[in-house]
Amino acid sequence: MTYRGRFAPSPTGPLHFGSLVSALASWLDARAHGGAWLVRVEDIDRPRTVPGAASDILATLERVGMHADEPPIWQSTRIARYEQALDQLKARGLVYPCGCTRKEIADSLLHAHARNTTLAYPGTCRDGLHGKPARAWRLRVPDGEAAVITFEDRWQRTQTQNLATEVGDFVLKRADDQWAYQLAVVVDDADAGITHIVRGADLMDSTARQIYLQRCLGAPTPEYLHVPVVTNDQGEKLSKQNGAQALDAGKPLEALIAAARHLGLDLSGQAPGTLEGLYTAATAAWAARMRVRMSVSK
Ligand code: GLU
Repeated sequence: MTYRGRFAPSPTGPLHFGSLVSALASWLDARAHGGAWLVRVEDIDRPRTVPGAASDILATLERVGMHADEPPIWQSTRIARYEQALDQLKARGLVYPCGCTRKEIADSLLHAHARNTTLAYPGTCRDGLHGKPARAWRLRVPDGEAAVITFEDRWQRTQTQNLATEVGDFVLKRADDQWAYQLAVVVDDADAGITHIVRGADLMDSTARQIYLQRCLGAPTPEYLHVPVVTNDQGEKLSKQNGAQALDAGKPLEALIAAARHLGLDLSGQAPGTLEGLYTAATAAWAARMRVRMSVSK
């Protein structure tokens, strides 16, 4: 196996401690396996993209010594591939146009909630638009046993989600014409030959959808590892939206030591004085923690 990992930041603001933790975990896993580490800028969610944030993130990664093995991939350049993937799913009858507005979905979910049944998209447009204009494209999820997706997460162990009851038919192209994260991430990881995905546990909930989509597109399923998210004092996930501080790139060593500690890495009282020293110690600690048999290269 040729290991290929990646870090896939959304340029909604500068790199903060939470995203540094994800970057570091994916970087250490790639190093421990002697594999390649790629960076992908997830800049297709136009309304959330902040001008300048992508180059800021890329510069910070360089500054902290995480150098990608290939030039970064920008999702905004890959729209034609997403179009092709959707066409492939259309040809197989796996997707359908949906005319529901947010309000209509919220109302029907409210009813479902009152009846104490599922909170998944109720499939209103599965059999036709009922005279409504098409707004979004949804992937039809299977019923019964086929809806249950189970996978082994390298950190969080066995995970199971029932796509029919917990998610419902999910959106691949949004009403505002934007490509959904779920489709873009699956197409991009497959095209880049990604074998191992290491990211924050906030994305655990998306993984079953992505695995199902991989199967629909005939793409292989990578290994998954979701690291615990960093939370603020209120217990909320640190994010650019709730004002997470940009990383102080002037003090990379301190930030990286704190990120390694968040990952539970025992640097055994070592106080590495250089970035390379830190990465060497942290890679060995990661390999021991995650039971990776270390490769010699890199
Ligand atoms: N762009 C996503 C984020 O920043 C990460 C996507 C992924 O790693 O799959 O939350």
